[in-house]
Amino acid sequence: MDNGHSDLYPPLERIHRDAHVSSFEQYKEMYQRSIEDPAGFWDEISKQFFWKSPPTGEFLQYNFDCNKGPISIKWMDGAQTNICYNALDRNIDRGMGDKIAFYWEGNNPNDQGSITFKKLLEEVCKFSNVLKKIGIKKGDRIAIYMPMILELIVAMLACARIGAVHSIIFAGYSSDSLAGRILDAKCHIVITADGVWRGAKLLNVKKIVDDAVDICTKSSHEVRTCVVVRHLSPSEEDVSNLKHDENTEPPASRPSLKLKINWHDGRDVWWHDIMTGQSPECEAEWMMAEDPLFMLYTSGSTGKPKGVLHTVAGYMLYSATTFKFVFDYHPGEVYWCTADVGWITGHTYTCYGPLNNGATGIIFEGVPFFPDAGRFWAIIEKYKVAKFYTAPTAIRALMKYDDSFVTKYDRSTLKVLGTVGEPINPEAWLWYYNVVGNKQCAIVDTFWQTETGGHVITPLPGATTTKPGSATFPFFGVVPVILDEEGREITEPNKEGYLVFKQPWPGIMRTVYGNHERFETTYFKKFPGYYCTGDGGKKDSDGYIWVTGRIDDMVNVSGHLLSTAEIESALVEHHKVAEAAVVSHPHKIKGECTYCFVTLKEGETFSEELGSELKTKVRTKIGPFAMPDFVQNAPSLPKTRSGKIMRRILRKIAVGDRDVGDITTLADETVIESLFNLRPDDA
Ligand code: ATP
Ligand code: MG
Repeated sequence: MDNGHSDLYPPLERIHRDAHVSSFEQYKEMYQRSIEDPAGFWDEISKQFFWKSPPTGEFLQYNFDCNKGPISIKWMDGAQTNICYNALDRNIDRGMGDKIAFYWEGNNPNDQGSITFKKLLEEVCKFSNVLKKIGIKKGDRIAIYMPMILELIVAMLACARIGAVHSIIFAGYSSDSLAGRILDAKCHIVITADGVWRGAKLLNVKKIVDDAVDICTKSSHEVRTCVVVRHLSPSEEDVSNLKHDENTEPPASRPSLKLKINWHDGRDVWWHDIMTGQSPECEAEWMMAEDPLFMLYTSGSTGKPKGVLHTVAGYMLYSATTFKFVFDYHPGEVYWCTADVGWITGHTYTCYGPLNNGATGIIFEGVPFFPDAGRFWAIIEKYKVAKFYTAPTAIRALMKYDDSFVTKYDRSTLKVLGTVGEPINPEAWLWYYNVVGNKQCAIVDTFWQTETGGHVITPLPGATTTKPGSATFPFFGVVPVILDEEGREITEPNKEGYLVFKQPWPGIMRTVYGNHERFETTYFKKFPGYYCTGDGGKKDSDGYIWVTGRIDDMVNVSGHLLSTAEIESALVEHHKVAEAAVVSHPHKIKGECTYCFVTLKEGETFSEELGSELKTKVRTKIGPFAMPDFVQNAPSLPKTRSGKIMRRILRKIAVGDRDVGDITTLADETVIESLFNLRPDDA
């Protein structure tokens, strides 16, 4: 992954001259202080925020070693604050009331809106009063299952304001997945919307919630109230008179559409009804630093999702600080993170991080391919976006199309382009840099997890010389180490091992909701004294960190340990290949061999010759031992709803085993059957 791509991209003059961190020396100096004196470092940062009262004990208290007792992490214990107050009231007090907090861009390019900080606070206060009225108290969990509309932000901030714990579930999950999460968190309230257009597809969101609630009822769990935003349906009377019509075109403006929804009197309430007459003022609940802020389930790429719990103060410090430095945010800039708020990326870098910096963001309801593959770039031109953040899966999908989809839009306002979610292969990195950024932008490949709360390994745009495919160096306060199977630190360059972290940073999760033991077992048992990411990584001879993917996705071919990401990178360098996923496959002699699934670019066709060409490509690029045994055509790959490839399913397909396990987090189930049918005869 690194050896063929040791090209260096030093910070560009236009980026680093006014950057918050403008040289690598400055980064190193700040970093050193952050790890030698974490309490002092973060104490200083905490001064930017509003505290009702200061910490009562040590600024940082923790135990990372399960042999010494239960794992615990406390930042600023005893201090009192409120993240919603800091995000809104504090910024309004600083004169930002009339500034746009969010633009809203609909699925249909003609649908749009915006909200100022002042108006957002009013809406949040009104909804906070609604929550109180329906009996919500501090500590109660609230399920939020909503499309990308402004009310989603209002709902989550209202929870934060009154101390309710939001559990946001991406509104693309099935009713089964939603029910599982409602049950696990014991939520009695669900906040949702009637429906949403995603591209040319109409989604009856309310129906999915109804089904989920039925499942909960069967498990003897009561969902008392369901608050429904009228996003699409016309009026109550119209709703009951209209037939459900899946073939309608996306609406040109919000209220024109035919969507039939069912209504459960006594349980369902319209958002606009219950908001009527509410006071636009609501005093923030003063929360203890270590009170829970929200819980969020991981994507489920590797197994049953975990209810990751984050707390108030540490998450606030970390989300705001990583946002400021990693995107090098400056007042007046428009920032856009394409992630749905239902993922951690949306929590930290669409909502809390930007708002706490007084930034202007964008909430985008739609998808990158609607009405065509130029949508992202059209939005960047429209709002003059300076900082842009998306996922490798989107980049790889978009680079399949002609570059003119990008180049016909003005992107001269762009300065920083971020990616997150998976390792980004150098091919995609370079396309992002050359085509999207026109060689004028810094690329930040940010490594982090739901569990870490914010970026943990990442370049800083004005300070770090980047290498395509490497997430580079740790953020302030983070101490990454590479361990071997026995838990010994690997110091040798380019040797792969387990990526772990030595000491807590403020944004690290505090527990798995309702299951502290699972928290300890999953992250701390394997290597006492370290937080274990579950990802593999290595450091090159310049100290750059390369995250090589999940530890489970390593292959051992004749004694050579290989990461599948490395082989995938080699495959996508071929001009006909858009995407590749590689898994291990049992082999009589070698122990394991590699089995490759390749998705070709638009207009290309798969052939046996191409298969052999690709095998040779890997052989020349990495070495004879890495030559794949099988290459299969894959028109699409099984992905989670967040767009990550589910390699555990591909491992089953590779061996022809139809017992593929839990597929509730899979975006499209039909992909599996088509891949079974395309298996090569010799597999
Ligand atoms: P689950 O834990 O349920 O299997 P998940 O790990 O996919 O789901 P997330 O927390 O959304 O859930 O994703 C974090 C993971 O995404 C990381 O552990 C890593 O595998 C991958 N990842 C994220 N960003 C990067 C990156 N920049 N480079 C490499 N891998 C990344
Ligand atoms: Mg994970």
